[in-house]
Amino acid sequence: MSSTSVLDVTAQEEGDYVVYRLGNKTFRLDKAKSRERLAGKRVINGLRGAELNVLPLKYHEAYRIYKQMKANHWEPDVIDMTKDCTQWNGNALSAKERWIIEMGVGYFSAAEGIVGDSVLHVIEDNLTAAELKHASLRQIAEESIHMDSLLHIIGSLNIDLDEVTAKFQDIPSIRRKNEFITRHMPELKMGIDLTRTANKQKFAKALFGITQVMEGTQFYALFAMILSLHRQNKMTGIGQMFQYTLRDESNHIALGLYILTELIRENPDVWTPGFKQELVDFMNEGVELEKEFVRDCLPEDTVGMTQSDFLDYVEFNAGRRLASLGLPAQSRVKSNPFLWLDEVIFLKKEKNFFETRVTEYQTGGSVKNTSEDDLI
Ligand code: MN
Ligand code: FE
Repeated sequence: MSSTSVLDVTAQEEGDYVVYRLGNKTFRLDKAKSRERLAGKRVINGLRGAELNVLPLKYHEAYRIYKQMKANHWEPDVIDMTKDCTQWNGNALSAKERWIIEMGVGYFSAAEGIVGDSVLHVIEDNLTAAELKHASLRQIAEESIHMDSLLHIIGSLNIDLDEVTAKFQDIPSIRRKNEFITRHMPELKMGIDLTRTANKQKFAKALFGITQVMEGTQFYALFAMILSLHRQNKMTGIGQMFQYTLRDESNHIALGLYILTELIRENPDVWTPGFKQELVDFMNEGVELEKEFVRDCLPEDTVGMTQSDFLDYVEFNAGRRLASLGLPAQSRVKSNPFLWLDEVIFLKKEKNFFETRVTEYQTGGSVKNTSEDDLI
């Protein structure tokens, strides 16, 4: 399978045209119209058009991330849960390990929905450049895949959906985490005037909150717990899904960071010392809530898992998100306590979902003649 990198984007003027080369495709654009469209492209408050105006491309990185997201496509319901079911219904897991899985299902069932809804109504709706909207829409589709993966888990393990929902609605650390992220969302969904600095800052803060605080910091400790189990060969179907989800999240964080950086570049009025401090404070509050959540998920150390490592991991992630925006991180944790996790994510980047499945079918000796094969 050959692929041409989307990074190969060139634009050349030829007479009245601009010739765009994107990967192995060529587009001829009218030079005058092209200039006009390019001039109207802004992260917010730009020209809005219903037509397909990803070209001329202004925000290259967004299109590259879109392509990367697409290359990482996966389908939850074809992931084998047989071994997970045996372990879940037998005595392979300790009470502490079962609790981590339950927290994973309980928290992410709500969280994936919150992210999907917020990216759609708060972020995508307010963006005006086509290639940014385009990448953002792909993210929303991935949040739907993540929600679907939770349904696949719940359905496979025969977990009572209502019971799970009721149980986790009442856990204060989860409720506080979710309320903290969503409390400023309602007014942003109403379509606020984004020419005003204060409103631009509200939008920027929401973007930061969803992609850097929630997805970039508050998702990672529980991901790490579930992948620690996976490392011990426990609940490997779930582990596999969480690996794919985590790989997706790294693109969502990168996209959010890119949009935020471009927004600030185009709107320097946003980036005041007071606003920078507001973002740092917001992250710090998110870290405190997350630590409370970690203590609920892992009240004491268990096999292969030390609570203090996960608390450090929260600070480490918060620190790297702040640093990526040039914001000061007061974290005392300077190195990643879970280097193996980065390796897992990195290796997964090399892995093509569909090709892997073919190999797994062959080595597993079972060829499935179901509609699942249509996906290959
Ligand atoms: Mn997600
Ligand atoms: Fe996400």
